[in-house]
This record gives sequence, C-alpha cells and structure tokens, in this order.
Amino acid sequence: GVVLYLGLRERYEHLLHHNFVFSQDPHQEFDQIYRRGEPADDPTCYLCAPGRTDPSVAPKGGEALYVLVHTPYLHDHHDWQAMFPKYREVILKKLAETANLTDLEDRIEFESALTPEDIDRRYHVWKGAIYGLASHGRFLGAFKSANRNRGIHGFYLAGGSAHPGPGMPMAMMSGWIAADSLDQDFACVGPQANVKVPIGLGS
Ligand SMILES: Cc1cc2nc3c(=O)[nH]c(=O)nc-3n(C[C@H](O)[C@H](O)[C@H](O)COP(=O)(O)OP(=O)(O)OC[C@H]3O[C@@H](n4cnc5c(N)ncnc54)[C@H](O)[C@@H]3O)c2cc1C
Repeated sequence: GVVLYLGLRERYEHLLHHNFVFSQDPHQEFDQIYRRGEPADDPTCYLCAPGRTDPSVAPKGGEALYVLVHTPYLHDHHDWQAMFPKYREVILKKLAETANLTDLEDRIEFESALTPEDIDRRYHVWKGAIYGLASHGRFLGAFKSANRNRGIHGFYLAGGSAHPGPGMPMAMMSGWIAADSLDQDFACVGPQANVKVPIGLGS
C-alpha cells in the first residue's frame, strides 16, 4: 500500500472520520493490482480525517489526513523512489476530483508518505505487503500458516502472516492462540515454577 500523511492548513468541512472514494471500474483496478502487479491508474482510496473525532490531532481550523491506497506487494521491477512522485499526483488528483477536495495541493502544510519499499524496510514486512502472506492458491487454500508448527516441536508462529490472519484484532488473536498452544504443549510444574517441562519429554 501507499500511505499519505497530510497536514492541511485548512480543513474540509464535508469529510467524515472515515471516507472512501472508489475507482470507476473495480475489475480494471483489481486486474492492474493483482494480475499485472502495477499500481492502479484509477485507485480506490481510504481517507481518514481523525479530527472529526479528536480535534486535538490538528491545529484549530487545520486538518490531519491519512490516505491509504492499496498497491501490489513489491515486485522486482518496482522502484518506488522513482514511482512515488507520479503516483502521489494520481492519488491527489483522484481525491480532488472524486472526494471534492479541490485545491488539496495548495492546502498541504506538512507531508509524509509510506510506500511498499518503506513498509518492507522499516517494519521488515515481507515485500511490503500490508496483509502479509496471501492466503489463497493451490497450497494455502483459505488458510494462513498454523500457529503450532507440526514439524518442529516447540516452534510457534504469531502475527499477520499466521492464523487467523492480518489486521490488529486478528494479529492479537494470533498471539493469543500461539501462546495458548504453547501453554497446552508445556505443562507448568506448580503455579510459581520457573521451569516448564514439555509434555512427552518429562514422562
Ligand atoms: C500502512 C498499513 C495500514 C494498515 N492499516 C490497518 C488497519 O487500518 N487496521 C488493521 O487492523 N490493520 C491494519 N494494517 C495491518 C496491521 O498493521 C498488521 O496486520 C499487523 O500489524 C501485523 O502484526 P504483526 O505483529 O504480525 O507485525 P507488526 O505489527 O509489523 O510487528 C512486527 C514488529 O517486529 C519488528 N521487527 C521486524 N523484524 C525485526 C527484527 N529482526 N528484530 C527486531 N524487531 C523486528 C517490526 O519493527 C515491528 O515492530 C495496516 C498495515 C499497514 C502496513
């Protein structure tokens, strides 16, 4: 994904906290992203104006905007340093025309951004994919990797690329299930014990 963080000197009164602007043709958009591995020419954008709920996020009269556009995970031919300036223009134009954010560019006081390259490097998220490993296709079916590894005893997986999936609530559940699995596999010797004896190894 590409994220724009925009600090505007003047707010847009018509925005809600959560806003979406959609592409005209979702089939074409999905084809560009998922089949061709290119950012969509006419992207769907999620636009958050958190000042509607918490006025302290922007100076009085100003606006803090978070813009998220889904793009493909990093492909070998992607160079976001070169691609970003042009794609930023695509996003700003889409917002100006479809979300009625006329003169958006003129209102920008502060600006920061994340590209798949940044997400990959900063957070070590594989190929900068917001939602981690895909859970479709011949091998994965609809499933993410299991939290308890069947091949290596005592090895557990948790996070957005493990079961049940990505997103904050799911990643937290993932940690919970992995911890629960560990708890089931390793019997605790007394409530205060520091030493845990793996089931099957102690008997
Ligand atoms: C731009 C963006 C927007 C998103 N929006 C939403 C949203 O609106 N709602 C939602 O529910 N989810 C959202 N997500 C998805 C959500 O953030 C992830 O699914 C979730 O954070 C995954 O949790 P995790 O614990 O697997 O990984 P992370 O949250 O990425 O945590 C992994 C941590 O490990 C650290 N790390 C990595 N490698 C090492 C290393 N070698 N040594 C030490 N530390 C290391 C990283 O720095 C990071 O802090 C978004 C993700 C992105 C990128």
